[in-house]
Amino acid sequence: MQLKLGDKIETKKPHPCGGKIWEVVRTGADYKIRCTTCGRVIMLTPDALAKRIRRLVEGTV
Ligand SMILES: [Zn+2]
Repeated sequence: MQLKLGDKIETKKPHPCGGKIWEVVRTGADYKIRCTTCGRVIMLTPDALAKRIRRLVEGTV
């Protein structure tokens, strides 16, 4: 799955704040995604991110 800046994804496990929707804020060697509920940003390797994604909510593949 190729993600672009601004894409929104749903993760399999919700964030501790209860949010499940994340926005991609950085792509490249590492990805940064921001929780759209609490605003927390986490950094993930592409592999780690691929395992967490349930589906693409918004954006084009
Ligand atoms: Zn959160």
